[in-house]
Amino acid sequence: MIVTNVVKDSFIDYKDEHALVVFSKGCNLDCDICYNKNKPYDFEEDLLEIVQRNITPLHTAVVISGGEPTIQDLHKTCKDFKELFPELKLKVFTNGQNPDMVIDCLNFVDTWSIDFKTLQDTSILGVDCPCYKENVIRTLQILSTTKADCIVRIWKHPKTSLDDQDEMIRIIKEINPDTKFELVDILL
Ligand code: SF4
Repeated sequence: MIVTNVVKDSFIDYKDEHALVVFSKGCNLDCDICYNKNKPYDFEEDLLEIVQRNITPLHTAVVISGGEPTIQDLHKTCKDFKELFPELKLKVFTNGQNPDMVIDCLNFVDTWSIDFKTLQDTSILGVDCPCYKENVIRTLQILSTTKADCIVRIWKHPKTSLDDQDEMIRIIKEINPDTKFELVDILL
């Protein structure tokens, strides 16, 4: 997996863990308010090489953020990672648009973070993605069958009504009452 940026010491991206955070290259959406838009790449290198070079005995976890990690070889990356670093926890951020890849990675990921950006129509994100909601729901259904932790980040987009926000929470809890969620402010 090609990654483009690294944060060497994070205490906020993985609760209660000292994490090394890497950012994968590319995404299958192109949200107009993407926090990565126009962010320059610091490098383009293999994830495992970056981790090997930067991990220290103080780290307890690695976080793969994006971009969107599921559009690359996430399965092989996670499998190889767990063989090389069985003592480290692994967390993956995803936009929930590639449930089949999530299935392939279930044995290797300890914690998933999934964005739920909109309930109705992806045009508020500046993209045309008719299956957006169905993909997020399928991803949540898949994760509800595993022991992995799952945290859903609900986007508080200014064009999302409070009713829609409540419905997103209802959907998450109906799939799995134990799933955690957080509301994320979106600044336009
Ligand atoms: S899904 Fe995330 S990384 Fe991809 S374009 Fe949207 S905000 Fe950016």
